[in-house]
Amino acid sequence: MEKTALQIQMVDLRTQYLKIKDEVDAGIQEVLDTTTFINGPKVHEFQRNLEAYLGAKHVIPCANGTDALQIAMMAVDLQPGDEVIVPAFTYVATAEVIALLRLKPVMVDVDPDTFNLTAEIAEAAITPRTKAIVPVNLFGQSCDMESLMEVAKKYNLWVIEDNAQAIGADYTFSDGRQVKTGTIGHIGCTSFYPSKNLGAYGDGGAIYTNDEELGRKCRMIANHGQVKRYYHDMIGVNSRLDTIQAAILDVKLKHLDEYAAARQAAASYYDHAFQHIEQLQIPKRQYNSTHVFHQYTLLVKDGRRDQLQAHLQSKGIPTMIYYPVPLYKQEAYKTAMVNEISELPVTEMLCQSVISLPIHTEMDEEMLAYICEAVAEFF
Ligand SMILES: *Cc1c(COP(=O)(O)O)cnc(C)c1O
Repeated sequence: MEKTALQIQMVDLRTQYLKIKDEVDAGIQEVLDTTTFINGPKVHEFQRNLEAYLGAKHVIPCANGTDALQIAMMAVDLQPGDEVIVPAFTYVATAEVIALLRLKPVMVDVDPDTFNLTAEIAEAAITPRTKAIVPVNLFGQSCDMESLMEVAKKYNLWVIEDNAQAIGADYTFSDGRQVKTGTIGHIGCTSFYPSKNLGAYGDGGAIYTNDEELGRKCRMIANHGQVKRYYHDMIGVNSRLDTIQAAILDVKLKHLDEYAAARQAAASYYDHAFQHIEQLQIPKRQYNSTHVFHQYTLLVKDGRRDQLQAHLQSKGIPTMIYYPVPLYKQEAYKTAMVNEISELPVTEMLCQSVISLPIHTEMDEEMLAYICEAVAEFF
């Protein structure tokens, strides 16, 4: 039987919800019954549970992942014109908040294997005006944070990790110490957008840090720059996680590792099916990070990425291109950037060649077999 597009989805939040429905519904009902919609006890409870899960001293819940990045950038006190190094192969939000704060995004290339920023690439872009680096843990695995932190230390730079796609992944230092991704830089940022690995049923985000002072500042900025109500010590923003979202996230956090395992099992199935197709490069793993597969992204080496996508579409298999256009070629960023680059070769190549297949917590063997067969048939 041919599966239709309705049966195979990029993400399947409905089936996932039905499995935890009782717990989630009870959590939502409790918020409704107590009408603690803003800053209710569940927000604090979720914050504590996330701190424990991540091993982070301070978690500051906020309204979305973009706000998390903006608040983090505001907390490190940069001045207009300061340069911030950011990969060009990422979601727009990473560079957007930099430009919005009148800082200068310095867009750099990424590693062709992991698609992530490396210490070498970052170091080559440092100037006397560089103040921060924003590594993005793309598609579900960490950058090589140990060497990035060494570079940051050498040049006295802030490191703000965009961990929106890699919450739950583990990073291992060369001395064997293991930590959660996003907790290595001075500040880590995450998104609870519904399709993210830890997804709410609406918008949400969080900032995490082990630094007491940065934690205090981020919390203040997210709350109109106040600690004491109606006394504003700095200019902030209004960025809160709704209590209903916190109640949902608190339930889903308990399942996060199991969700990662389901994604990893689907990725292994794909790997096994595609590893011998010479036109494809299966996702390479950063040696010191686990991969939680926010996306399963193949590199199509023979230039036929768009034809593959059309072929899969005709079989009812949805795919996505993350990301089709380098950030420096986006209309809005041509002038916001400091570095006048015409092309970053790896970013250009990736934008032409990557394709992300359906991956989520509810994939079964029948779906995976069907998708793998459709891919194999194309080559
Ligand atoms: C999703 C995402 C964001 C932004 O998160 P929102 O909650 O949508 O604001 C930022 N960076 C990356 C890499 C993302 O994937």
